[in-house]
Amino acid sequence: MNLVEPALQTATRLTHAGRKGKVHPGPVNPPIVRASTMLFPDVAALNNACGTRRVYGRHGNETTHALEQALCSAENAAGCMLTPSGLSAITTTLLALLQPGDHLLMVDTTYDPTRLFCDGLLKQIGVTTTYYDPLIGRGIAALMQKNTRVVFVESPGSLTFEIQDIPAIAAVAHAGGAVVVSDSTWATPIGWDSFDLGIDVSIHAATKYIVGHSDALMGVILTNEALHERVRNTYRQLGITIGGDDAALALRGLRTLAARLAVHRDSAQVVARWLQQQPEVAEVLYPPLEGCAGHELWKRDFKPEYACGLMGAVFRADITEQQVAALIDRTRLFGIGFSWGGYESLILPTKPSAYRSVNAGQWQTPMLRLHVGLEATEDLLADLAQGFDALRKTSEPQPARNYLKAVV
Ligand SMILES: *Cc1c(COP(=O)(O)O)cnc(C)c1O
Repeated sequence: MNLVEPALQTATRLTHAGRKGKVHPGPVNPPIVRASTMLFPDVAALNNACGTRRVYGRHGNETTHALEQALCSAENAAGCMLTPSGLSAITTTLLALLQPGDHLLMVDTTYDPTRLFCDGLLKQIGVTTTYYDPLIGRGIAALMQKNTRVVFVESPGSLTFEIQDIPAIAAVAHAGGAVVVSDSTWATPIGWDSFDLGIDVSIHAATKYIVGHSDALMGVILTNEALHERVRNTYRQLGITIGGDDAALALRGLRTLAARLAVHRDSAQVVARWLQQQPEVAEVLYPPLEGCAGHELWKRDFKPEYACGLMGAVFRADITEQQVAALIDRTRLFGIGFSWGGYESLILPTKPSAYRSVNAGQWQTPMLRLHVGLEATEDLLADLAQGFDALRKTSEPQPARNYLKAVV
């Protein structure tokens, strides 16, 4: 059916896009193609295919093309490229849009490996980066330079969940001749109308909610019409591609994305409210919950039906890292691990100040990041209650431990 029909509701498009549909008899799903070489019956057919994306396995195949179509439909994008990880989607896009001598405005709360790329390879090729406060809004005008080509947003911010005023930032960026690139992993392709908000390139770690089952890594670059060829040109030169098996896993995940997010959202609301009631918790960082920081902007720019299950919790200043470790160690249903967006719940200690250059002093007390999965909330709350019990019983001061450095 190849549906890119905005008239249909999101859940309907997720179910039908990238499939042949009713008029073509055969299996419901596109075949899973494993291919490097594509064969042609004769030279005329070979010549006809040249210039299309059907000539060689690296250009994609029936499975990856179906996934691209479905993702374009999900987020109303003009073009889609698939990469082997979320991080490679980010780095490919930045390499496509920035040249030596250019300036990048990067949100300070970006996913840490994005920061490492800016301070590493981008710096090495002569691109300068300025980190800005996620809450800067239209104040970003003061940081725009003549050579600012990209303003990068990530909303909510990694670990601290600030919601950015993207329309205000995009207006300034566009007026100054820059484009807006977004790490939209938290929103997913269906959590907001990214291109209407002023985003030009919307990137996802499909590893998270799109694949949705913790069994594959993938990145997605969704572009508007104006930038598609430019990003694809770099993507092609870098030789980036993915295989049909992973594409099939992502397509399968995408079909149930709306249904899963509705459950993640409901359960996350319950867990967030419960956490707010624990005396040791100073603040819960979950913008979809009324009263939480960023809620008003979240309500304005995001779709209420599809919030995800990732949140943060800030402890009181007198709670120690050892106590938080005891809480985490005691839970049985919350896995300790990086990544998120699968069906299962996860928990991690976090230390955002280690990755910040603006307002780093703001986050000094122990923090948690929780991914609320699809388990029954009664069980999750009982598990967390056990964890808080362990926290309360741990009061002996112990030597400080280092938090894990990498944060996903
Ligand atoms: C996980 C993540 C990435 C990177 O995705 P990978 O597939 O692990 O490379 C990028 N941005 C955000 C916000 C993420 O959570």
